[in-house]
Amino acid sequence: MDCVEVCPVDCFYMGETMLVIAPDECIDCGVCEPECPAEAIKADTEPNLQGWIALNAKYAAVWPNVTEKGEPPADAAVWDGASGKLEAVFGASDPAAA
Ligand code: SF4
Repeated sequence: MDCVEVCPVDCFYMGETMLVIAPDECIDCGVCEPECPAEAIKADTEPNLQGWIALNAKYAAVWPNVTEKGEPPADAAVWDGASGKLEAVFGASDPAAA
């Protein structure tokens, strides 16, 4: 959750299982990217991310805004780099369908 505190426009939103970024609020400053130990934050200019952008927009609209760093989940290390996370959490393989 180091990323949350460095965002100058407070565009992170938090669900039970992950953080998302509101694409229409993010100013693409890139400050948060090196703060993520799991390297989970990608610039939306990278290829093949449309589904993830849609997922972020969808949940940023309904999850609460978060502006202060909290404790990372106890099982964060287990999920870091694990495959099949999307299916396990959202029951979908296509991020846009989640
Ligand atoms: S890139 Fe976007 S989400 Fe990351 S710190 Fe900057 S404004 Fe916030």
